[in-house]
Amino acid sequence: MPSGKVHQNLELSLLPPLLLSLLLLDRALFPKIFHLHHYAIFTLAYLFSVYLLSPDLDQHHCEAKKNWGILQFLWWPYSKIFVHRGVSHHPLLGPWSRLLYLALLLLPPYLLLQQTLHPTPTPITNHLLQLLQLLRQYPSEFLLTLLGLFCPNWLHIALDHWNSQIRKTP
Ligand SMILES: [Zn+2]
Repeated sequence: MPSGKVHQNLELSLLPPLLLSLLLLDRALFPKIFHLHHYAIFTLAYLFSVYLLSPDLDQHHCEAKKNWGILQFLWWPYSKIFVHRGVSHHPLLGPWSRLLYLALLLLPPYLLLQQTLHPTPTPITNHLLQLLQLLRQYPSEFLLTLLGLFCPNWLHIALDHWNSQIRKTP
């Protein structure tokens, strides 16, 4: 199985060609849809995913967990729930499982902050509606964030798959 460093190096080395592909796609298919901030959003989401949302967070000890520093304990339940290379390594369910898990982790501090700033309680549905409104307002930013988060995970899964195929061949 490739080490965390091998995964990170591959994913980082493919960021420039992916950015170039986005640029070429923008020029060829949808002229002037992407602006500088779109590339910045994609890059930040991509780097966040490389260092902090690796599929290998399903392991008890891995490079990705170390990147969380003192907060690595937050991923302990995730590695208990998900079997290594199970759902966590699925191309769609894997990234969504980590994003939803992260959202669940962030929900209590977010609600606490809201309560501190606005003592009158706001129903949770209002927060969800605000989020949906934001997504409708900035669809390209949202899609590029998702693409930036998913791409390194897909590369990780592809490398794991390729590696296990190589090992199987006599
Ligand atoms: Zn893996």
